[in-house]
Amino acid sequence: MVNQGASNGMALDAMLDSEHPIKVAAAEFAAASLVYPGSDDFDHERWAAAAEFGVQGLMIPTEYGGQGRSAVEGALTFEGLGLGCPDNGFVFALAAQSFAMQRALITAGNETQRKRWLPELAAGTAIGSFAMSEPDAGSDTGAITTTATPTPDGYALNGTKAWVTLAPVADVIIVFATTDPTKGHWGINGFILETTRPGVTIGPVQRKMGINTCPFSEVTFTDCAVSADDMLGNPGAGGSVFSSAVEAERAFLYAAQMGSMERVMNLSIARARSREAYGQPIGGFQAISHKIAEMKLRHESARLLIYKAAELYDRGDGMTMAGALAKLQTSDMAVQSALDAMRIFGAEGYTVDAGIEAELRDAIGGLSYSGTSEIARNLVSRLLRVDRPVRRAKN
Ligand SMILES: Cc1cc2nc3c(=O)[nH]c(=O)nc-3n(C[C@H](O)[C@H](O)[C@H](O)COP(=O)(O)OP(=O)(O)OC[C@H]3O[C@@H](n4cnc5c(N)ncnc54)[C@H](O)[C@@H]3O)c2cc1C
Repeated sequence: MVNQGASNGMALDAMLDSEHPIKVAAAEFAAASLVYPGSDDFDHERWAAAAEFGVQGLMIPTEYGGQGRSAVEGALTFEGLGLGCPDNGFVFALAAQSFAMQRALITAGNETQRKRWLPELAAGTAIGSFAMSEPDAGSDTGAITTTATPTPDGYALNGTKAWVTLAPVADVIIVFATTDPTKGHWGINGFILETTRPGVTIGPVQRKMGINTCPFSEVTFTDCAVSADDMLGNPGAGGSVFSSAVEAERAFLYAAQMGSMERVMNLSIARARSREAYGQPIGGFQAISHKIAEMKLRHESARLLIYKAAELYDRGDGMTMAGALAKLQTSDMAVQSALDAMRIFGAEGYTVDAGIEAELRDAIGGLSYSGTSEIARNLVSRLLRVDRPVRRAKN
């Protein structure tokens, strides 16, 4: 099942119009209603406000309580949220649920599973997690050791998942486990179940470097009984379910980070114009103004790549290359721009209250989530067949 929304060439509008009404509406909503409440504890009130605005239901089909919007509209909305909301963690939480967990359920779930969870996820009354990584298997998903052992009634899940976004507050979780570790990727199956199921233990919130309003933790499964009805997709298809969800996530989750790059640039411009040194605004020094020109270039190229990936997705065309490039450009360049902002702000940037150091800490997470930048580069070079030897004609 594919997303209902077709963008009908909207990507070009999105690329050319940096003041697109969907983005502006989302930015205004975020600035007014997603204000950091002063505590990193997960904020259920803001989650409900976001659901009321339609964020979680944005790309959920209408028959399951969502709005069935296109990927381009989804990216525009998240770009606006990233621009309007300095709390990158909260926007990341919304994006992680929307683009990984929900996407997998929409594309691979059966009718019963979709009807059970999508309306509640759209309404914000249920929160969802997506668990593949393990303490000893991150990039190498074929090496996971969480097992799904056949029982007379289905399967028993055993193992531990790591760094699971939103797990400490999740009601429902998609978990990947292997029925046959010798088969690697092809032995993996996905399951969807409520987090209150006996045998599921959610670990304490793990402290991390940034995006702290979005909690993550380990999740341990101990003889957790699941039935064949809990399986997401066909037997043995879990690896493919995961890969296609992550392929989409790799492009769209970063729309929020791309929006935050624009916010960091705007803050830097304001600082460059107002801060004076040697009798002139620091923006008058080429060393500063060129940093801001680079920020603009990085942000615009991230936008173009994200909307290209979104347009390809909406058309149903392959977007593996576009998604990987979008992820790479956005995640690497968001770190560079946040670092430049630190330089432009000087000592003020190093203070916690100015919020610039938080932008840098938040941006660094993007190098790892949705697969690392190295893995994305592997993907790009593999698609370019860089590792294929040239065939030489025999004389
Ligand atoms: C904020 C955040 C949220 C996350 N949320 C979730 C979540 O909700 N669900 C989930 O399942 N996971 C989640 N993760 C985990 C994330 O998916 C993993 O961090 C990622 O897949 C990398 O795995 P790893 O951290 O174990 O690194 P490793 O796989 O141990 O890699 C370590 C280093 O080696 C490099 N490397 C590994 N293999 C190769 C290779 N073949 N070629 C080149 N370099 C290589 C990596 O790029 C990296 O630099 C989250 C991570 C973060 C930071």
